[in-house]
Amino acid sequence: MPAYYSQPAAANYSTPPAHAQKQRGYRICDQCGQVETPVARFRLCGGCMVTQYCSQECQKVHWPHHKTICQHTTSQIASIKQQAVGGFSNDENIAKNLRKFCSAHTSLLCWVGFQALQLKRVPSNIRQHVLVIDLAPHSHPEGHRRFSVVSTRIVKRSYIGDPLVLADIQRRDDRCRHNGGIGALVVLVQCAGISQVMPIEVDPPSKIAWDTREDWASVLHHFVESGRTDFQPISTTARGVYYG
Ligand SMILES: [Zn+2]
Ligand SMILES: [Zn+2]
Repeated sequence: MPAYYSQPAAANYSTPPAHAQKQRGYRICDQCGQVETPVARFRLCGGCMVTQYCSQECQKVHWPHHKTICQHTTSQIASIKQQAVGGFSNDENIAKNLRKFCSAHTSLLCWVGFQALQLKRVPSNIRQHVLVIDLAPHSHPEGHRRFSVVSTRIVKRSYIGDPLVLADIQRRDDRCRHNGGIGALVVLVQCAGISQVMPIEVDPPSKIAWDTREDWASVLHHFVESGRTDFQPISTTARGVYYG
């Protein structure tokens, strides 16, 4: 069982806000659900450096709910650091680079998870399954490019053994359904026993134009290997293949 040191680097929400079209796969404020824009960048919680907020006000309001998982995440990161000091391990850097990886490939991971769990056809899969992406480290000057995809697999949600992380996913599930979505899709990105949990809040499939694509795994490989971070969800329409 890998160490789960973290909840999401990015909680992504599939609803495009009224004021913009190209917003799928963007970050949302963990308190109010507002979508990050290039102009209004979010702040990270200074404790866990993971959870994100649109403003100091939202961060303050959310603290009583966030405190437990925040301290849990912080202590797990601290234990990775301690192991790193004890040996010659670079686990701490892996943890940091995994966060960069998830952040750089947010919309790709969101789309891949949606396709892998076949949510267009079977939305209820979202409650049962998790997409695991196993990565291998290699050296590269840019943090988000220090991984290769080794394999992908679908596992049961119970694979996540950490009750606090599960509770946090449940909270997102509830919030998403409350807002009319189908729940939180979970993508687990793993490398060297370290896991990054990425819950992605998903709209009802009727509102999502993406069609079912069988080639999601090769699309994932391609974008990760080439280091491209400009992924746009792919849809096949009567007029051809459409990106965006
Ligand atoms: Zn907010
Ligand atoms: Zn925190």
